[in-house]
Amino acid sequence: MTTMLSLNDGHQIPQLGFGLWQVPAASTAETTASALRMGYRLVDGAAIYGNEEGQGEGVRQSGLPRDQVFVTTKVWNSEQGFDRALLATEASLKRLGLDHVDLLLIHWPCPAKDLYLDTWRALIRLREDGRALSIGVSNFQEPHLQRIIGETGVTPVVNQVEINPRLQQPTLRAFHDQHGIVTQSWTPLGQGRSFDAAPVRAAALRSGKSPAQVILRWHIQIGASVIPRSTREAGLRENLDIFDFTLNDAEMAAIAALDEGARCGPDPAQFNMA
Ligand code: NAD
Repeated sequence: MTTMLSLNDGHQIPQLGFGLWQVPAASTAETTASALRMGYRLVDGAAIYGNEEGQGEGVRQSGLPRDQVFVTTKVWNSEQGFDRALLATEASLKRLGLDHVDLLLIHWPCPAKDLYLDTWRALIRLREDGRALSIGVSNFQEPHLQRIIGETGVTPVVNQVEINPRLQQPTLRAFHDQHGIVTQSWTPLGQGRSFDAAPVRAAALRSGKSPAQVILRWHIQIGASVIPRSTREAGLRENLDIFDFTLNDAEMAAIAALDEGARCGPDPAQFNMA
């Protein structure tokens, strides 16, 4: 069972969840219900993933009380701006079949559009209206965070960004810590780039865990929330089974040394896709 992290608005977020990017719409309800039944409590979705209907259906099929499941969705780039973001969120809630989400994120800052501040104001309104219990951002860099915090006085609870052993983003994470923002790691397994790295293999051998479990445990121990994706039942179980061992200081330091600032995904400063 996962540990919980405190958010800066008084709510809590499960530290471990699962992600729905590239999960086929037709099997999303089944994957979601199965993951929730095996012990996950956070399901990370987004309008652009095209599977919000299944995400909501899976929450219902799990049989868990609604307040035991943490549901995230995101406002896509083409829906930025105050009015559009309000409408897009209503459409997401309708597809999910829910009256609120636990966490609503702006998916990317899209700096060239220069609409993320207006979009943030819409998220503040949606929180006031109870359509999202908590609001945050994704792929924001320090200048984007400084701007929305400075202009509105509202600090996002979460910034969901790419983090894996080859891209550890220590400066951004330190900024998050200073401002009470939870770091949430996407592509946490880094496309397997570090499965064969010596520190990961050594920690896996010592602890009797897989390289993926060692890397997910590293995310937990740096204090991040982490949302790996697997559509296989065995993979989902493996990724959940990371709370019965600890990486020691030497192992954490050796994994820290793998950072080379290399992204799997796009650079948020340049990414403005509609
Ligand atoms: P991930 O790091 O979770 O890796 C998924 C891949 O690893 C899949 O191919 C899966 O089969 C494999 N895998 C999973 N568990 C494994 C295991 N135990 N051993 C070996 N291989 C394993 O990558 P991801 O899906 O890119 O990211 C996770 C989630 O993050 C997404 O589903 C999505 O919810 C979110 N995300 C958000 C953004 C964003 O812009 N906010 C971008 C990308 C992903």
